[in-house]
Amino acid sequence: MLTTVGVAPRELERYRSSVREGVIEAIREDAAKLQGARVLHINATAYGGGVAEILHSMVPLMRDIGLQCDWKVLTGSDEFFNVTKAMHNALQGTDHPWKPSDRETWVNQNRLNTEGWQDYDYVFVHDPQPAPLLYILRDHGMNPGGHWVWRCHIDLTNAQQQAWDLLRPFVEEYDGSIWTMRQYVREGVPERHLKIAPPAIDPLSHKNDAISDLQIQAVLDRYGVDRHRPIISQVSRFDPWKDPLGVIEAYRVVKRELPELQLILVGSMAHDDPEGWEWYEKVVRRAGEDWDIHVLTNMNGVGNIEVNAFQYASDVVIQKSTREGFGLVVAEAMWKGKPVVGGKVGGIPLQIIDGETGYLVDSIEECAARTMELLRDGQERRRMGEQGREHVRDNFLITRYLHDYVRMMCELSGEPVSEPTLAEEAVGGE
Ligand code: UDP
Repeated sequence: MLTTVGVAPRELERYRSSVREGVIEAIREDAAKLQGARVLHINATAYGGGVAEILHSMVPLMRDIGLQCDWKVLTGSDEFFNVTKAMHNALQGTDHPWKPSDRETWVNQNRLNTEGWQDYDYVFVHDPQPAPLLYILRDHGMNPGGHWVWRCHIDLTNAQQQAWDLLRPFVEEYDGSIWTMRQYVREGVPERHLKIAPPAIDPLSHKNDAISDLQIQAVLDRYGVDRHRPIISQVSRFDPWKDPLGVIEAYRVVKRELPELQLILVGSMAHDDPEGWEWYEKVVRRAGEDWDIHVLTNMNGVGNIEVNAFQYASDVVIQKSTREGFGLVVAEAMWKGKPVVGGKVGGIPLQIIDGETGYLVDSIEECAARTMELLRDGQERRRMGEQGREHVRDNFLITRYLHDYVRMMCELSGEPVSEPTLAEEAVGGE
């Protein structure tokens, strides 16, 4: 059975000071056509990773604009999450030897989650883990009502064909789909109601809201980080695609020239990510006896406020991913006025304008060189940081993403929708 997730309320009106003029009114105008609609989001976890992060804001905002919005997560066994993480990795390009029992584990667990199903007007199913739900409901003759949309957060460009072949028949069932970038869309995905809409950050969440110097200092003191020495950081699940070992190598190259440098690596242990501990251990071993590398997790009490403080305290933020659907952390850092050195992969180039809001890099050497360059030039750091914040304001705030969902629902029910703003068009907003 699906489990309902509780969320704290949010008011759209409070976002007025973060966004451009007219944005709030435009959302309300389209939302008026959907008043009272029952909306459901389904994903795999209530904590850890970008999807959970977004839904904690998106769900209460949908409620605030007059929708009856719920969020439910799959109930799953360890075996199930091992299979779905293998699926995630294979969809990002790792070869995986699929056994028939893997598919059975995946589908059977979804079947158990259909127990007690209740209809909604719009159902948004996030990522591959719960994708089979619609097929199963139909296969059981339960004919669920409403419009069903599959929201893919993953870069499928190099997906293992076998993994996509497993997923594809389930995706074909949906009335529409939402993708972060056009090039992620795979063969066989129906063109009807296909929308490009990158994710976005919540400027008022504890993770992104303004934080006082005193609070930042208190967090740094608690974890033994020296604010008077240079700080670089990466905040990411401990996962091979986030390349935490590469970050340590790049830090070491810079540290040879700048011995006072400190590195903060923060990683959460997501409920649906069984690889977390294994990668945490690899990171700690690689860090070794260097006390200027701080490896921290939610298990050490690093929550949203601490992440906020670490990002604010950083001179340069790193996101050295080798595969990245979007990378919310990039927008989070840019919103805090930080230049970001990020891998030239997936959704990162959508956010980092190379040489303007940070740098796009392909290797450890390049990452180290660009980080060093920025650490030496405070003026350039500030210039890029300011541009990054405005780029996020225009393109990657949750209000734009909320509007994308509202437009999608209007389209699905044949309601006329307003034109996207120029900034919305620039990032997709089809
Ligand atoms: N995050 C966090 N603590 C951590 C690691 C990650 O709060 O230790 C958050 C991070 O701030 C971001 C989200 O988890 O909001 C990760 O989203 P992203 O799109 O960057 O990557 P994903 O985990 O979805 O691949």
